[in-house]
Amino acid sequence: MADKSGGIKGYRIGAFGPGGIGPGAMKSEPPRPIPHPYEDVADPARPRHVLDYVLARRSILETIKNDVLAREKVCDADPYLIRAAKNHGEQTERNCPICAKSQLRHVTYVYGDDLGYLAGRVKMSSELPQMAQEYGHFRVYVVEVCVLCGWNHLQLSYVLGDGTPRRPPTKPRDVLE
Ligand SMILES: [Zn+2]
Repeated sequence: MADKSGGIKGYRIGAFGPGGIGPGAMKSEPPRPIPHPYEDVADPARPRHVLDYVLARRSILETIKNDVLAREKVCDADPYLIRAAKNHGEQTERNCPICAKSQLRHVTYVYGDDLGYLAGRVKMSSELPQMAQEYGHFRVYVVEVCVLCGWNHLQLSYVLGDGTPRRPPTKPRDVLE
């Protein structure tokens, strides 16, 4: 039985548009942790509720090892994601597991009700400590991307914030989407 997904299970990012990897777009993502009452947090900038997708990654790589067609399916980074990786991605020292010709880049997204219209934005990891002080609760998603072959995979997600719920910021009128 051939299903269209090729039977590849895991945390695929794949084709997502300028709206980012919203909870709706990330079908295989665990349910979004909502809503968030007050939380007692010792260090707002220290990752908590950490989810590591290393096992999912391993199983995908194992599945596609001898399957060229399946390989194409996992190298399906959307042009938007490739652009984000080129412009805002942070270079790692790890080689791409598929093409081995390029070093992976990490793209970091932030999501959370507290963030309002800022949810889904790409952030540099250096911006996160300050954000952690400004918001009560948001989840960080780190996606690894190969800009050469298009391999992409959700690597890690975790929660930051000081635990005090905020009213989401209202969108300034001059912000263009
Ligand atoms: Zn690659």
